[in-house]
Amino acid sequence: MSADDKGRKDATPQTCAHNHSFLDALPFGDRQDFEDASRGFIATLPDVTFRNPEGRVIFSLKDYAFLAHEQVPETVNPSLWRQARLNMNNGLFQVTDRIYQVRGFDISNMTIIEGSRGLIIIDPLVSTEVAAAALELYCAHRGRKPVTAVIYTHTHVDHFGGVRGVVDEADVKAGNVAIIAPDKFMEEVTKENVLVGTPMIRRAMFQFGAILPKGPRGQVDAGLGKVISGGTVTLIPPTQIIRQPIETHVVDGVEIIFQLAPETEAPAEMHMFYPGLKALNLAENATHNLHNIYPIRGAQVRDANAWAKYLNEARDKFATKSDVVFAQHHWPVWGNSRLLDYMAKQRDTYKYLHDQTLRLINHGHKSAEIAERLTLPKGLAREWHVRGYYGTFSHNAKAIYQRYLGWYDANPANLNPLPPVERAKKSVEYMGGADAVTARAREDFAKGEYRWVADAMSQVVFAEPDNTAARELAADAMEQMGYQAESATWRNAYLFGALELRRGMMAPAAPARAGRDIVRNLTLDLFFDFLGVRLNGDKAEGKTIVVNWTFPDTSERYALTLQNCALTYLADRHAEAADATVTLDRTVLNRVILRELSLPEAMAQGVVKIEGNPMKVAELFGQFDDFTMAFEIVEPLKAK
Ligand SMILES: [Zn+2]
Repeated sequence: MSADDKGRKDATPQTCAHNHSFLDALPFGDRQDFEDASRGFIATLPDVTFRNPEGRVIFSLKDYAFLAHEQVPETVNPSLWRQARLNMNNGLFQVTDRIYQVRGFDISNMTIIEGSRGLIIIDPLVSTEVAAAALELYCAHRGRKPVTAVIYTHTHVDHFGGVRGVVDEADVKAGNVAIIAPDKFMEEVTKENVLVGTPMIRRAMFQFGAILPKGPRGQVDAGLGKVISGGTVTLIPPTQIIRQPIETHVVDGVEIIFQLAPETEAPAEMHMFYPGLKALNLAENATHNLHNIYPIRGAQVRDANAWAKYLNEARDKFATKSDVVFAQHHWPVWGNSRLLDYMAKQRDTYKYLHDQTLRLINHGHKSAEIAERLTLPKGLAREWHVRGYYGTFSHNAKAIYQRYLGWYDANPANLNPLPPVERAKKSVEYMGGADAVTARAREDFAKGEYRWVADAMSQVVFAEPDNTAARELAADAMEQMGYQAESATWRNAYLFGALELRRGMMAPAAPARAGRDIVRNLTLDLFFDFLGVRLNGDKAEGKTIVVNWTFPDTSERYALTLQNCALTYLADRHAEAADATVTLDRTVLNRVILRELSLPEAMAQGVVKIEGNPMKVAELFGQFDDFTMAFEIVEPLKAK
């Protein structure tokens, strides 16, 4: 085995054979997706590279030039290579009369509908810089018109973050631009990412592989698209909320029937049918891959049963009257019989996954056993659009188990085992020491047993994190699994794990920074919940502190109590016997959260007033932890 200059290895004979087997198993001769992904193409930019105002590159397709080759390298699963090539289609496309999409400029699509007065923008990508460029591309080819409405299909950042790149908030406030979103949009936007935002971003480094080198031995795709743009994330709150299961509105002359689909791919999500245009937009619930019931970056588990149900209803009510169905990722499906077939198979995939997982649970199977056993039924297995480029049957089945039964398999041996480092030390000792384990694992590596080798060597790394031979063998095993993975997210995770084993932890010592617009829209409940999460229980031992809060600009009041190492609050209250009362405007609090201003600075400037005992406030704030992404994952935590 030869190593290239970065220490990355060749594919082993077993990996080559595994990857080769996909060529026979799947219908590579079927070119329909390539036709659909390029159908309606109008134009793109000569160089799809975007920069932020400081000049830093935030997205570039140049890094993916290697995907121009149809010939699959041995280090990439052929099925994933195909998806990675399809996701290279980029630029402005016509979907049907009056409906256009900009694809491939970010991980998601921006859909543009030509209204009577101007443009309806659906999902303005992740960052303002990219969204502005997408709109500009449209205008260059279709003429310049004002944006009359923005619709957010759901609460994920790749569907709203670029909004200030396409509209000015002043026009929204003046009533010239409507912003439409599904029920509970604002609550869910802030909820999903605040309380564990920093570790989720750290874990997303594994899922998306954003800092992996791009190439046949590195990141090739993210399943849903190439990669997430890294520019300015914004949010303008909606002015109009869709609350009923089905609502019909005329938006800038276009009739839209909204169908809420809560608890599917996102907690707040909706589909749209445009009856006059015979077109159906399924947001992110039917894309050209199996999606995640649980993304491996970490999140609450989604409801696969609801997912199938809303797809079924959309198919029954709207797809039957549609000529085209599309989503906010990937490419459309045209033709009524084709799109009905597509939606039935999407629906059945989620339903099968849900029901068969529960059936096996009812027979007593454990999570990992179900994941091992469950595969797509024959009628679906050769359909490209349900293959696991993003989610996998394996980790989705485990997630469904977790949603219904939780993490515990009911075997008391697993109820309270030793934690990872102690368990690894005892296991390695029982197995005859690190050298003996590594020697055995090398033999298994030669046989291609990478799953077990990675598992066994991870135990050695947790017992002896400085054991270079163990780290390298663990990395080599993960790397081969990455090369074999059909799922882009698994490939990225394995290759990033290998990178950290070889080079050490790569995460910056920085906290996840919430965007200004997200902070501005945080509820105070969520702000005080997050303070509670930051409270260091050890430091708070034996302390009781009560602080009243007054926010004059929003007329809000809170009573905050530290007692028994727990921080609790009541909204709309002041405690009678408080140690202090803090008065500040919400706008000042936002600056403190964004770290533009420290609390002592704010007090010195007189924009925070404290009555009572200021030492008690200082004492309370002295007990909050700061979080950074710099924590180890593939080896024991160093100092915490
Ligand atoms: Zn998305």
